Amino acid sequence: MSENDSVGELKNIPIAIKDNIAVKGLPLTCGSELLRQFVSPFDATVVEHLKQAGACIVGKTNLDEFGMGSTTTHSIHGATLNPWDLQRTVGGSSGGSAAAVASGTVPLALGSDTGGSVRLPASFCGIYGLKPSYGSFSRYGLVSFASSFDVVGILADNTELLRTAFKILCRPDPYDQSSRSFPEQQKAVSRRVGVIALHNMVSREVELSYQRSCEYMRARNIELVEITPQTMQYVAPVYHIISTAEASANLARFDGIRYGLRAEDEYDTKDMISETRSRGFADEVKMRILLGTYVLRSGLADRYYHNAQKMRKVIQREWKNIFTQVDAFLLPVYPTLAFVPEELEDQVRQKSADIYTAIANLTGMPALAYPVESDMHIPMGVQLMGDLSSEERLIDTVRYLQ
Ligand code: GLN
Repeated sequence: MSENDSVGELKNIPIAIKDNIAVKGLPLTCGSELLRQFVSPFDATVVEHLKQAGACIVGKTNLDEFGMGSTTTHSIHGATLNPWDLQRTVGGSSGGSAAAVASGTVPLALGSDTGGSVRLPASFCGIYGLKPSYGSFSRYGLVSFASSFDVVGILADNTELLRTAFKILCRPDPYDQSSRSFPEQQKAVSRRVGVIALHNMVSREVELSYQRSCEYMRARNIELVEITPQTMQYVAPVYHIISTAEASANLARFDGIRYGLRAEDEYDTKDMISETRSRGFADEVKMRILLGTYVLRSGLADRYYHNAQKMRKVIQREWKNIFTQVDAFLLPVYPTLAFVPEELEDQVRQKSADIYTAIANLTGMPALAYPVESDMHIPMGVQLMGDLSSEERLIDTVRYLQ
């Protein structure tokens, strides 16, 4: 699509933007003390495209600090709650964007997805969440968390608007070296879809709605093929090793010198940097930086970081091969329903729960979370993942199912 084609396509549509994406003249806090006072001097490329299409940017939305988390509770702005049940988590880290759409405040919002942060809150809020192919949307103006996984994603209350936004945003940007142009997408409903045996890996409610989604597909003449990926057990560890390593390097820029908070009372530069970072980052971010520097340490990097990179290649190869057998793959989004935040304090359990979403980030492939009918009082979604550059096909398939 050329720039001019999109003029007016989002005319007067109110859109909310996750607060780790730059909007000129608005705060860009990333939910962090470090950037509490920071106002962006420029628009992210994705925001520029939305404005050119006539959209009205109505505000910034809450997130887990720098996008690190699954609950939208780790933020200087406080927690965002699930509009369907205020006791439960909205999911994260793009929880503010999901709540804004689910509550009817805006029909469309941008989030970012490094390991599931668009699809998880979309699923917990009963809306649509698209993580596009890595490289399809510009990351210029998105504050980096883990650069080889980070993508801007879309949260929407309907698939038509989602498609319109996708077409507006999917274009290469000279300001982002990882952005590229993809061939014209095939528009067709997926006829062969891979499914996975869940073997008690998820809660009963999630298993039931997954099965129900499979039945819907069968009833609409989609052939289901059961496939057991051999690399599932490595997904969460590989994701967390590489993402913390990249985060530790990316967050080194917050040193009190270039932007954001500065601990003015320190005389020595080294003390100033260390004090700025101690005050500026909260515990989750500190933990990830420490883990990241640990897995990159000389003497340990081979065991952790380099092995994780090798394993990432194996995971990528396996999924590339899966998509020679099926057109798309149906996966749960999260192993449980939207939970009460205090119930999931176990860090290892919380990090392991990224298993289904992180596959798309490790492989760079697109995935679309969509709501499934549920008997519960809170919504829940599943996700349809596809090979690189199959977003339109995913959207078509989900539309066909509804
Ligand atoms: N739950 C993931 C994490 O905490 C999601 C991060 C993301 O996609 N921004 O790393």
